[in-house]
Amino acid sequence: MQLSKLEVKGFKSFGDKITVNFDAGITGIVGPNGCGKSNIVDAIRWVLGEQKTKALRSEKMENIIFNGTKNRKPLQMAEVSLTFNNTKNILPTEYAQVSLTRRYYRTGESEYLLNGVTCRLKDITNLFLDTGIGSDSYAIIELKMVDDILNDRDNSRRNLFEEASGISKFKVRKKETFRKLEDTDKDLERVEDLLFEIV
Ligand code: ATP
Repeated sequence: MQLSKLEVKGFKSFGDKITVNFDAGITGIVGPNGCGKSNIVDAIRWVLGEQKTKALRSEKMENIIFNGTKNRKPLQMAEVSLTFNNTKNILPTEYAQVSLTRRYYRTGESEYLLNGVTCRLKDITNLFLDTGIGSDSYAIIELKMVDDILNDRDNSRRNLFEEASGISKFKVRKKETFRKLEDTDKDLERVEDLLFEIV
């Protein structure tokens, strides 16, 4: 699976649409301080579903929308799309090209799309579980993460191995199942209360 294209519009410093094509081999992004190199990595993390504004180096989600310059008005929406080449079917989908899009509006609404079709964040998270890609995975390694792994902070070393070995998916499903069981228990309690009232 290969990351083939990133399109960014209205995200952080990118008031105009930019397209980054990732050809075979290594792609380097160079530029002067403050020109937006890290914003490109933030855009990748964000489109993969990152919800923690701190991880995006922002105080609140609204701040990821281009907030204008001296000569330009702020925009109302941020949009990032990321395209993967999936010819080896590493992503569990029949499509040879998988494109994710995330949009966020100043009104607080957000949208996720998979190959142009509206989907839930959960669909995106599930698609990438155990592939090593994902907002929480080891596909993006920043300096702080290297520190955390070396110091084994918050079980980070174990989490890394679990993601690489394909266990994370089952842990997530187990958690989901326990949550559903809890909900069912609550529903049952409610049914018993109602029965008590009726009978
Ligand atoms: P360095 O080499 O110093 O690490 P960099 O190239 O990685 O810098 P970034 O941190 O990606 O730079 O970009 C910082 C720039 O992004 C700053 O100029 C900041 O004003 C701008 N920026 C961040 N959020 C927004 C936003 N919402 N709207 C407009 N510009 C923004």
